[in-house]
Amino acid sequence: MAPPDTVLDELFDKNLAWANAKNEKDPTFFRRLAEQQAPRFLWVGCSDSRVPANDVVGLDPGELFVHRNIANVVHSSDMNLLAVLEFAVEVLRVRHVIVCGHYGCGGVKRAVENAEGRLGEGHTLVDHWLAPVVDLCIRHRAAIDRTAAPATPLDKLCELNVSLQMRRLAATPVLKTAWARGLDVTVHGWIYGIGDGLLRDLGTTLSSSEELAALPPLDDLLATPHEPMSAARLHAVAAFLEMELADMGAIAPFGSACTCGAWDNGPFGAEREEME
Ligand SMILES: [Zn+2]
Repeated sequence: MAPPDTVLDELFDKNLAWANAKNEKDPTFFRRLAEQQAPRFLWVGCSDSRVPANDVVGLDPGELFVHRNIANVVHSSDMNLLAVLEFAVEVLRVRHVIVCGHYGCGGVKRAVENAEGRLGEGHTLVDHWLAPVVDLCIRHRAAIDRTAAPATPLDKLCELNVSLQMRRLAATPVLKTAWARGLDVTVHGWIYGIGDGLLRDLGTTLSSSEELAALPPLDDLLATPHEPMSAARLHAVAAFLEMELADMGAIAPFGSACTCGAWDNGPFGAEREEME
């Protein structure tokens, strides 16, 4: 028998403290969870330890179904991902599938090094896994290099990788079949900033195979830059809009509501609905 490991003991102590805190706040929490899970969202994200899915969206156990792998890659032959996706869509009936990458992704960085021939003889299984991202780097590097500051080429690649992977997810038989049967499920593309803790919406959603077929080529996304929208920015724009409209006497003075009420009624109402 291995000697006791105090580092691992710490994990059990932290677990006990966490379970006690949950029980104190809500004595029926674990009993309810044991009976059933009813998550409303599926998260397909990177395995990076700095992007803990539940934490960054403030959701409790039971509220988020999760699949993570290095660089949030979608392989059409990945039985793990396909089974998770099928269960989420067909059994749990989640309506939102979130493909979430992150800036500074080590997997994307590794793919860039591979694409630039900087790995030498050091190829590993991870590089095999990252092949679609390497291909992405090679195909779109010229367009990425032309994108304007402040986004770095790596940031842009991390965003483009999300756009690619959400397309690949939408092309799986699981989603094609679900949409053909009329199920209401939407794929979203988000990116997380490990430097500021904020999620950003990349502005594309997919709710049908027709929408997937109508998407512009990835190079077009780079030619017409879309600034990813965090909640902080969304609220700031909403407040600004409300001030402008108040000046015009169109609505009640600023201060009446910046809980995004402006978005429901304002000029960006449709955009807000799309984001939700
Ligand atoms: Zn990553």
